Amino acid sequence: MHEAANRQFQRAADLIDLNPDYRKILSEPENEVVINFPVRLDSGEMRMFKGYRIQHNNLLGPFKGGLRFHPDVDLDEVKALAAWMTFKCSLVGLPYGGAKGGVTINPREYSDGELQRLVRRFTHQLGDTIGPEIDIPAPDVGTNAKMMDWIMDTYANVSGPGGRQQLKGVVTGKSVEVGGSLGREAATGQGVLYALRHWCGETGQRLSELRVSIQGFGNVGSHFARLAALEGCRVVAVADHTATLHDDEGLDIPALFAYARENRMIKGFDGADEIDTEKLFDIAVDAFIPAALENQVTEERAERMSCRVIVEAANGPTTSAGEDVLLGKGVDIIPDVLANAGGVVVSYFEWLQNQSGRAWRVDDVDTRLREIIWDANDKVVAMKEELNCSHRDAAYAVSLSRLADVYDRRGIFP
Ligand code: GLU
Repeated sequence: MHEAANRQFQRAADLIDLNPDYRKILSEPENEVVINFPVRLDSGEMRMFKGYRIQHNNLLGPFKGGLRFHPDVDLDEVKALAAWMTFKCSLVGLPYGGAKGGVTINPREYSDGELQRLVRRFTHQLGDTIGPEIDIPAPDVGTNAKMMDWIMDTYANVSGPGGRQQLKGVVTGKSVEVGGSLGREAATGQGVLYALRHWCGETGQRLSELRVSIQGFGNVGSHFARLAALEGCRVVAVADHTATLHDDEGLDIPALFAYARENRMIKGFDGADEIDTEKLFDIAVDAFIPAALENQVTEERAERMSCRVIVEAANGPTTSAGEDVLLGKGVDIIPDVLANAGGVVVSYFEWLQNQSGRAWRVDDVDTRLREIIWDANDKVVAMKEELNCSHRDAAYAVSLSRLADVYDRRGIFP
């Protein structure tokens, strides 16, 4: 995966003729932290876990990026995800570098108490690897606001008596009550919708007339679905790891959202037909939203897909062979680093609120989020026209140009 991520960046680097020194620096993460740590389970057994924090680049500011809890987490995956954060933060103009972390675990198999002990121990062992001005984790696949609250509390408890307000910024995506931001939970899905709306403007479509299918109904997919349905989009298919639901007339998204909140899955929802998982890729739609894991849109699935745009809510959902097929069919792909940047943008707003001690209103959060996402989309479209390339290559070109400009000015130490 890290190789594939590097290929995306090298292609854009060629297009803008990126300085070879900067290429070398950006091809490898700056720091790779691997931690083996013990956790006492409810049964009394003590089990060892493996956790990672990969800090890719901090030219633009503190390292920034999520923490993933999933059985497939490994060094290679986290390295790719960390690099994508550098390019994402640069693209949308945030004062952050890129990082990612994770623990190889299926969180569904553990109790709340076990997860709390795991999060606290991992945070403690990370020590000074993280900090509000060093590296700021956030939620990702398998992690949530409650876990971010535990990280903040653990960090605060070993930090001495001072700086009680600003140290809350050691992590973002916290509960609002604990120092989180209004609008953060829905931010990634909201940003995906802003990106889709921008594409509609670019291509002369109406958002309210789109037929949409969504792979993944976790935080990102479910909020996207809820907000898209409010705009009048017809969500005709939704899949998660338990089921794939289809209704050609459009699913009842508010009901499905409520059902999934309560049951933590979509299986068993009786308002739609359950179909075979692979059929998701055969349903003709205007927009396909991959909001699950990486490498889902493979070459074989891409051959079967019929859509006009893919908005990558997940990180790395399209394989490079899948992308070639889709671009060949004239499908636009709004890339992850642009499409799902809403999460880290509102993380930035949360961090600013933690620094100032002043809370923002939710409509201020949404307005500023939209401005940032649209502005980045405008830049990508302009670059796409200038270079005559795909949205992904253009997004990387915008992102790399900013990094190169800062390297040019700062120079490389010593
Ligand atoms: N995990 C999210 C991402 O991949 C959010 C990161 C953040 O808020 O720092 O962009």
